Amino acid sequence: MRYFSTSGIILRKQNSGENDFFLTLLSPEHGRLQATSRSSRKITSLKGPHLDPLNYGTFQLYRSGDRYTLTECQIENTFPVIKADLEKSLYGLTICEILLKSIQDNQENQELFQLFLRTLERLESSDQNHLTLEEFKIKLLKNSGSWPDIGVCNYCQQRWQADDDIWIDRIGNLNCLDCRHLNHDKLDSTSFDAVKLANFLAEYTTDQIKLNIKPTQLFDLQKITGIFLTNYLHCELKGEKILPSVS
Ligand SMILES: [Zn+2]
Repeated sequence: MRYFSTSGIILRKQNSGENDFFLTLLSPEHGRLQATSRSSRKITSLKGPHLDPLNYGTFQLYRSGDRYTLTECQIENTFPVIKADLEKSLYGLTICEILLKSIQDNQENQELFQLFLRTLERLESSDQNHLTLEEFKIKLLKNSGSWPDIGVCNYCQQRWQADDDIWIDRIGNLNCLDCRHLNHDKLDSTSFDAVKLANFLAEYTTDQIKLNIKPTQLFDLQKITGIFLTNYLHCELKGEKILPSVS
């Protein structure tokens, strides 16, 4: 199949040569797909104006060896609300950064694609930007098998109770106050409310639910997801440092 068609979302657009764009897409069937879009930077180009990051649509490609060329595209959603709002754009680009660091070529992952699309639709339509990002991180980690059961103390295996002091180390081990002396890593405190919220976001899709979340709960949640994500990606995120703070 030298010519083929796939749905996709643009993650990155880079200039290439004099008139070309080099695009990175997430496709449900092909994972990361990198393709050249020839002459798209010319003013007369029909494709050029449609090739912005976050745009979702159907892409026709031509394959030659391991190189892909974009021949046509039909964009279905440009997410205009996200693009017109600086804060939402930063959230969108942070999600792209996470995906660019975690996805690989030729890896079918329908679930991850649907997660990305649903996350953008949610960012477009809801005010809960921060929660949307945290839910995305947890579901991405779960999809990659990097989200463990955090409902118990790692040492004594006790299920958390509402008044527990909970501690987390740099690789994501959680421990209770009684087991604190067993963990020799640097510890940070987190809360029962944040752990409960993290478990909820790992299990349920919250698109239709209006959650009432305290800023401290979101702050502690961000600590937990940050630790697991840094360990999974083996690096820190640049984009996230410029996002608005939650508390
Ligand atoms: Zn314990």
